[in-house]
Amino acid sequence: MGKASKDKRDIYYRKAKEEGWRARSAFKLMQIDQEFNIFHGVKRAVDLCAAPGSWSQVLSRNLYLPAKLSSDGKDGGLPLIVAIDLQPMAPIEGVIQVQGDITNARTAEVVIRHFDGCKADLVVCDGAPDVTGLHDMDEFVQSQLILAALTIVTHVLKVGGKFVAKIFRGKDTSLLYCQLKLFFSQVTFAKPKSSRNSSIEAFAVCENYSPPEGFKEKDLYHLLEKVGTPSGADDLDCRSGWLEGPNKVYIPFLACGDLSGYDSDRSYPLPSTEGGTYQSLDPVQPPIAPPYKTALEMKKASSHGAGTDTSKLSLDPQTTL
Ligand code: SAM
Repeated sequence: MGKASKDKRDIYYRKAKEEGWRARSAFKLMQIDQEFNIFHGVKRAVDLCAAPGSWSQVLSRNLYLPAKLSSDGKDGGLPLIVAIDLQPMAPIEGVIQVQGDITNARTAEVVIRHFDGCKADLVVCDGAPDVTGLHDMDEFVQSQLILAALTIVTHVLKVGGKFVAKIFRGKDTSLLYCQLKLFFSQVTFAKPKSSRNSSIEAFAVCENYSPPEGFKEKDLYHLLEKVGTPSGADDLDCRSGWLEGPNKVYIPFLACGDLSGYDSDRSYPLPSTEGGTYQSLDPVQPPIAPPYKTALEMKKASSHGAGTDTSKLSLDPQTTL
């Protein structure tokens, strides 16, 4: 598609260039803000998976630049924005850039260091893996990226803070919703107008960060901790022995009955009968069309001297033994 043709067919692509946004995705974040007012009162923001930087531009233009022009800025109250991506990004005014992997738990430490130990009011994540076109696969990889983002969120977001993350809608969307709902009192899946209808993309808008009582960030962190080590993901500890208190999950498992019942793994002596010989009972209802029916019929015929050649049984494709 030529540039002019794309300008004609994609209004957001054209508008992004006209308004100086690095990518058309800028409109998605702005439209989410129009609906949810996510920038209100934000002084510290984190942009995960930020390159080429249109979301960081939106954050800069909505948070940093107005404060710089106002008296707030003179008082040293300028908002702080930290952007992270695997790829390097051209500079944006008011945005600190970190080149890093969000699946590496140490990335959270880097962010917090930039905030002088303070926590963020807003975390946004527009991260996406390279899509394969296999929806189930893409949805799974995307959900892993969201899990990594959520791990960082549990370290850097203040209680009451907001988190916006790109999701891929699929059969596990409700599971993702439930997982996010554990950490936020309000979770909405939103589809801004600038996100194409043909795309499975949507955005989870999570408000009022309120982790469960007793939740320890370190426990979620533990899952990612080893990924960044030189020996890589092979070291990932997926056992749950290290989980404690409310972070430990016990799956209910109930053994029914007591020791007086029969043990299905034991042999029991046959009951003695009056005549002394034990008579085994026939099944109450034998199968009416067993798969071995033909074989039984052939065996019966041969025992009546009909001369059936039973050696052919295994060669006959119609015979089910
Ligand atoms: N929001 C950006 C903007 O408005 O310009 C666009 C983000 S782009 C759709 C997705 C980005 O996710 C890519 O730049 C990619 O490098 C980044 N990404 C994917 N996996 C990542 C990871 N594990 N850590 C950091 N960034 C990652």
